[in-house]
Amino acid sequence: MTTHIPHWIDGRESPGASGRTAPVFNPATGTQTGEVDLASADEVDAAVARATAAAREWRQSSLSRRSAVLFAFRELLHQRTDELAALITAEHGKVLSDAAGEIARGLENVEFAAGVPQLLKGGFSEQAASGVDVYSIRQPLGVVAGITPFNFPAMVPLWMCANAIACGNAFILKPSEKDPSASLFLARLWQEAGLPDGVFTVLQGDKEAVDAILEHPGIAAVSFVGSTPIAKYIYETGTAHGKRVQALGGAKNHALVLPDADVDMAADAVVSAAYGAAGERCMALSVAVAVGDVADPLVDAIAVRLPKLSIGDGAAPGTDMGPLITREHRDRVAGYIGAGQEAGATVVVDGRDATVPGDGFFLGTTLLDNVTPEMTVYTDEIFGPVLGVVRVETYEEGLALINANQYANGTAIFTRDGGAARQFQFDVEVGMVGINVPIPVPVAYYSFGGWKDSLFGDTHMYGPEGISFYTRGKVVTSRWPDPATSSVDLGFPRTR
Ligand code: NAD
Repeated sequence: MTTHIPHWIDGRESPGASGRTAPVFNPATGTQTGEVDLASADEVDAAVARATAAAREWRQSSLSRRSAVLFAFRELLHQRTDELAALITAEHGKVLSDAAGEIARGLENVEFAAGVPQLLKGGFSEQAASGVDVYSIRQPLGVVAGITPFNFPAMVPLWMCANAIACGNAFILKPSEKDPSASLFLARLWQEAGLPDGVFTVLQGDKEAVDAILEHPGIAAVSFVGSTPIAKYIYETGTAHGKRVQALGGAKNHALVLPDADVDMAADAVVSAAYGAAGERCMALSVAVAVGDVADPLVDAIAVRLPKLSIGDGAAPGTDMGPLITREHRDRVAGYIGAGQEAGATVVVDGRDATVPGDGFFLGTTLLDNVTPEMTVYTDEIFGPVLGVVRVETYEEGLALINANQYANGTAIFTRDGGAARQFQFDVEVGMVGINVPIPVPVAYYSFGGWKDSLFGDTHMYGPEGISFYTRGKVVTSRWPDPATSSVDLGFPRTR
């Protein structure tokens, strides 16, 4: 028995009409559990028409009403975290506590957006000229869309939709077709929270729906999170069609471990960040750069931790790491381990040896030592439970390695030397930096984004930059009739 996963249009489930569907699997068992509809361009068009009408109404709603809807949504999401987490685990594979963790981080964005009356305050200059006041306001864009990856089926949509809706837009979500059910759960909660029908839409789909979104004249802006080649495509196509686009791409996040680091603490942090969610996080640490004589003790400390991790169904209590998203992806990641070995890396722990009963998409944890920058295990984003250790002699060598990388999403330094950490923060060309913090995802009142090939566009996601992305500024210069200052003057208006 497979579940049918439809769209959500105009406040209700809407079965697809394209005749195209994609299978959805439980990665822990390898069995197909669902079938998701894939929208055609015509279905995108019809949904945009409905969202356009809803946006026109929604922008009229008072800030306090929007805030009340966000508070109600926040409460519902909080109460029903366990249900949503179970849904995520069943389609993504991550362990339940991790699924609950992504919802908690998503909730922060809802809490931030609930402060929209404060966030949309403009500036005001009284008496900019005699009898003239000038003030700025920010207005919604209309219909905006979010295209999201499989690895955070709740958190990444929440990065986008909470701010977009708070700012008075209608939001169309095109979630990953690999784990689409969380999107419908969020849609039902929005409705229960009092959001008018049509303000939050879910269009299930693949490239066909994405292309229709990118080309649709009724969509003003697109937020994207996913892999770098697709992010680049989304940015180029969306902007060519006159849209505002922020497109976050892939990552290769380095941990720089200095010789003075607390080796046990660094090993705990690196293991957590490399293998959590089976390495399928854009902020996963996938390279440890070991400086000088910290390398041997660090590799040993990581290696002793790995056999203690329990790998299995993420829904089972006590599991530390679940499966990968698809069979093909599992095989691709396993292929990288072989390629690393052939290229001369030392396989300290081989994830291909792990066995989990059943037909799930499992791969064990892998630790590769003596990785060098020309190996594909170093150059490519693997997106699996594979950590490579690169040995360098000096801080400068490690820094140069990080700064030469095409990706620049996150990085972390492990040291007890405050001066070295501050120097790293100053020198490193990466968007998000951790100092003894392995996964430095900014809290919701800052903004999230990498540099270089990890982000296409000018605006980072969520937080203050999210508010700015989902609104456009208007400046009003105003004078009220005052007979005392009224005269005919053909000169250019001056303020002095
Ligand atoms: P993906 O790029 O394959 O897919 C992302 C979205 O794009 C999905 O909705 C998908 O349906 C759509 N898509 C896929 N191929 C397309 C095509 N050819 N044309 C148009 N649309 C297409 O990414 P994924 O595998 O779902 O997610 C993993 C990737 O996302 C990793 O590279 C990871 O680093 C990245 N990611 C980045 C961040 C970040 O904040 N920078 C966060 C999470 C994930």
